[in-house]
Amino acid sequence: MSNLTDLTLAQMRDGLRAKSFSARELAEAHVAAVEAARPLNAFLVETPEHALAAADAADAALAKGEAKPLAGIPLGIKDLFCTQGVQTTAASKILEGFVPQYESTVTAKLFADGAGMLGKLNLDQFAMGSSNETSAYGNVISPWRGEGGAQLVPGGSSGGSSSAVAARLCAGATGTDTGGSIRQPAAFTGIAGIKPTYGRCSRWGIVAFASSLDQAGPMARDVRDCAILLKSMSGFDPKDTTSLQVDVPDYEAALTGSLKGKRIGIPKEYRLDGMPAEIEALWRQGEAWAKDAGAEIVEVSLPHTHYALPTYYIVAPAEASSNLARYDGVRYGLRVAPEGGSLIDMYEATRAAGFGAEVKRRIMIGTYVLSAGYYDAYYLKAQKVRALIARDFEQAWQSCDLLLTPTAPSAAFAFGAKSDDPIAMYLNDVFTVPSSLAGLPAMSVPAGLDAGGLPLGLQIIGKPLDEAGVLNAGYALERAANFTAKPERWW
Ligand code: GLN
Repeated sequence: MSNLTDLTLAQMRDGLRAKSFSARELAEAHVAAVEAARPLNAFLVETPEHALAAADAADAALAKGEAKPLAGIPLGIKDLFCTQGVQTTAASKILEGFVPQYESTVTAKLFADGAGMLGKLNLDQFAMGSSNETSAYGNVISPWRGEGGAQLVPGGSSGGSSSAVAARLCAGATGTDTGGSIRQPAAFTGIAGIKPTYGRCSRWGIVAFASSLDQAGPMARDVRDCAILLKSMSGFDPKDTTSLQVDVPDYEAALTGSLKGKRIGIPKEYRLDGMPAEIEALWRQGEAWAKDAGAEIVEVSLPHTHYALPTYYIVAPAEASSNLARYDGVRYGLRVAPEGGSLIDMYEATRAAGFGAEVKRRIMIGTYVLSAGYYDAYYLKAQKVRALIARDFEQAWQSCDLLLTPTAPSAAFAFGAKSDDPIAMYLNDVFTVPSSLAGLPAMSVPAGLDAGGLPLGLQIIGKPLDEAGVLNAGYALERAANFTAKPERWW
């Protein structure tokens, strides 16, 4: 049954219950797909034994008619989530060989619901990047190809996740999103992904990048699968002080596809000069689809949008420089100790050898903006602007329930196209960082193809804790778009 890997997660779940195939068969098909797809470099570690053990447990439970929500579903796990007994590197040399003794809350919840793990997915180093070119373990290649067969980036930082899901190596994967790292790679590869409200998913056991922004979320081929995974991943966790103590709704049940009574805001500041006409056209098409589903379209203003990128690229590096101070060669990961050197020499040599160039850039920016004399001018100012950006959204909610925007200003690009120019790379995040700074739920759904046949995504942003509304709007757009394109297999 070679097409088991083409099923969505919901189809797998239903097929397992109907005994159309066993969890063992499902896991074996995915393990084989992962092995055959090594040229994509999506996985850093393969854990077939984990996926097969979960499958056998699922088959036993299914036989007794007591299967859990994700029984026998093989998933990919971004290598930013600590997994007990399985190497976790954040795609950095500085954590090479680090084997956590504990499980992150999110992965523990997925496994408790019956899912298995196919392996740990490659990413931009410490989740810093938009193209997966900053991994210490090589670029992840998108299963999509550009003109003349050119290799393309899968987006970032969750590029292993997007590549694996789009290439049918797993029906779903975990991602994390600090400034767009679930949504942008989802858009680049023609899949769906949601960043929930800050605090909805526990950050415990996720390697920290920028703690006030980091959120976990699911990436999958459609909205329903995201809804199913998000339900399992979410919930209060006393081990994360920013975790929200609120009930988790049944997101799948919220997928009606009707937007009757919903006002969808179009933020006028997201209309960028020089944005490709195809993206503008898709956005207009999205409005029409939303209208067809019963929504009313209203224009809204988010006046501080323009400041979101510079604000993000102060706040995120500042928090990163603090979070990454712990990698010093003492407790875990790499240690480089020059002979006869001091403790400081060891710190310096370890960090110089262990961190990649982009990580070093962020640490330097972060240290600079937090330093005495510059703190007020940069960090404090950025925090104030962040509050204004959040207020823009609060004001927008007076006149609308959801916002519709493009996910990214372009389709996937070629390797090297932006990697020498950090500013060009950071511009990728222009539509995703404002909602990150405001802590709002936001998702990308595959909505169309550009002239070169590459996927483009639309983004829906919602009010705090309205993941159900975001998912339902995503569902309506997804149905209207009827996106069926998939990458042709070349690996
Ligand atoms: N591309 C953004 C960055 O490099 C976002 C990364 C993320 O969300 N983890 O910071």
